[in-house]
Amino acid sequence: MRLATITNWAYGVTVVLSLISGGTMLLAARAQDGERAAVAQRATLDQIAEKTVEQENALSGLARQYVISGDARDLLAYQRESQGLRSVEERMRHMVDAGASRDELDALKAGILSVDELQDEQQSALTARRQGNKAVAVDRVFGADYERDLDHANAQFEQFQYRLDQRTEAEVARATSLSRLWRSASEAALAVTAFLFLCVMYFIFRKRVIHPVVKLSDVVARLAAEDYAAMPPEFAHVDEIGDMALAIRAFRDNGLARQRLEQERSSDRAMQDLLSRMTQRMQASDTFHDLKSVIECFIPEIAPGYAGRLYLLDEARQVMVEAGCWLSPEHSKPEFPPLSCWALRRGLPHRPGGETIDIPCGHIDARDRSVDSICLPLTSQRETLGLLYLERRRTGETNATSEAYLTVLAENIGLAVSNLRLRDALRTMAMADPLTGLANRRHLEAVLEAEIAIAQRRGHPLGCIMIDVDHFKRFNDDYGHDAGDEVLREVAMVLKSSLRDGGFAARIGGEEFLLLLPGMSVEQASDRAETMRRRIGDLRLRVEGRDLGAVTASFGVSGTPDICGPDKVLQTADAALLQAKKAGRNRVVCAQPRLDQAQG
Ligand code: GH3
Ligand code: MG
Ligand code: MG
Repeated sequence: MRLATITNWAYGVTVVLSLISGGTMLLAARAQDGERAAVAQRATLDQIAEKTVEQENALSGLARQYVISGDARDLLAYQRESQGLRSVEERMRHMVDAGASRDELDALKAGILSVDELQDEQQSALTARRQGNKAVAVDRVFGADYERDLDHANAQFEQFQYRLDQRTEAEVARATSLSRLWRSASEAALAVTAFLFLCVMYFIFRKRVIHPVVKLSDVVARLAAEDYAAMPPEFAHVDEIGDMALAIRAFRDNGLARQRLEQERSSDRAMQDLLSRMTQRMQASDTFHDLKSVIECFIPEIAPGYAGRLYLLDEARQVMVEAGCWLSPEHSKPEFPPLSCWALRRGLPHRPGGETIDIPCGHIDARDRSVDSICLPLTSQRETLGLLYLERRRTGETNATSEAYLTVLAENIGLAVSNLRLRDALRTMAMADPLTGLANRRHLEAVLEAEIAIAQRRGHPLGCIMIDVDHFKRFNDDYGHDAGDEVLREVAMVLKSSLRDGGFAARIGGEEFLLLLPGMSVEQASDRAETMRRRIGDLRLRVEGRDLGAVTASFGVSGTPDICGPDKVLQTADAALLQAKKAGRNRVVCAQPRLDQAQG
């Protein structure tokens, strides 16, 4: 029941009891008034009855005095007294009519009749005396009959007084007991009111208000200090305090939601910081080795609940090859064909284990179907670059990174891989000749330096062959520039294919090429040059249905340390080539040590 209802009920009952108490008090007072009125009536009637008896006795005395003296003044006094007695009797009749009982009235009427009889006797005595008949008169007022009548009259009034006393006492006793009864009832009502008030005070203020309010104020103080472990008490009764507890509970729930939101926001911020730092480091990575280090450092922080592998596509072999690994994944193979991964097939994240029922990928150990794994394809411009594979660790780590973050992570890694590939491609393009695919002059210079250093360190020889296509201009002039290009491509193919066991080929000018042959002596290099010359000579090229005729080339062979020092090896090969040209082209000329000395 609500406090307001209880309070209203208590208030209503208290008012009713107070009215009852007041009413009974009024009734008690009225009963006392009745008592007082009865006593006052009795006193008045007593007084009048006594006065009547006194006046009757006085009349008797005056009548007797006149009978003896015969004095007219005594008769006059008697007549005056007689008038007074009449008026008293009249008054008495009125009083008695107002409140006397039947018994009292009978006694009073008998008394008044006796007094009237006495007065008749007195009148007859007075008349006899006035007529001079004193003896008769004396006999009349002094005789035994008169005495008896006088006593009888007095006795009648006593009887009246006795009855009056009895009735008055009974009335007083009744009024007193009634007054006592009403007073007791009033006191009882007052006691019940007081008891009710105390009960209400105890029940409402102590049990239903003070205790719950103390508990609630403690909870409110803790909630104000953002201690959301404080739990508002549950009250079974539906009242204002219960409403307050519900409101505080709602306030606590809101606070908890706000706190959770703030925690999520700050962990979101931390995650975004981490992702952005990782992205910056990946963008600054120069090589795949750098990228691997960055990934292996950051991913265990971003997704601590997952072990994983980074796979990159080996385009030549068309297999996914492990390029990085963290927190020891157990279930995915280090190498697999792209088609065995559903994420790579669909180009979308694939999560077969955990709560979702889906087909597991072929590269995941099929024995354990409970593995919660996520495959995130790494793509750029719809081209598959690799795969980010994650599997849930069994370490009790409950903090699962959201899939949205993992997707962003995969996108960032894909972008970084794509950047690295692009950079590699650009680097290759900067170092390669676009027509023949061979290295260009800039690349040759870098490689020559490195090969000379390696050869010197190992004490190995380094062979060098310079090649120039003979009368190349003729192809351009006779068959067009495209035909010239075709000749260059075919010659480059021959050179490249002759380097299968090692070596380096570069296009260093229009139709000039250079080969570096680490570990080969000048003799071996000359033999290799001879083989190449023959193969070039065997080329039969057709462009747009036209036969280009024979293609030949001249070769200048040199080598260090056989012919010259490492810094002169290109120069001496060039000089040998010049010799070959001069000697009639389509031949191999090996540089001579003396030639080197002569130029040096
Ligand atoms: P030699 O036997 O003395 O070497 O005579 P040659 O005609 O081969 O040499 P020359 O230096 O007279 O001519 C080279 C020509 O190669 C000149 C140039 O137009 C042409 N050339 C240079 N680069 C290219 C190219 O990339 N494609 C084509 N089609 N021609 C090129
Ligand atoms: Mg030339
Ligand atoms: Mg030429």
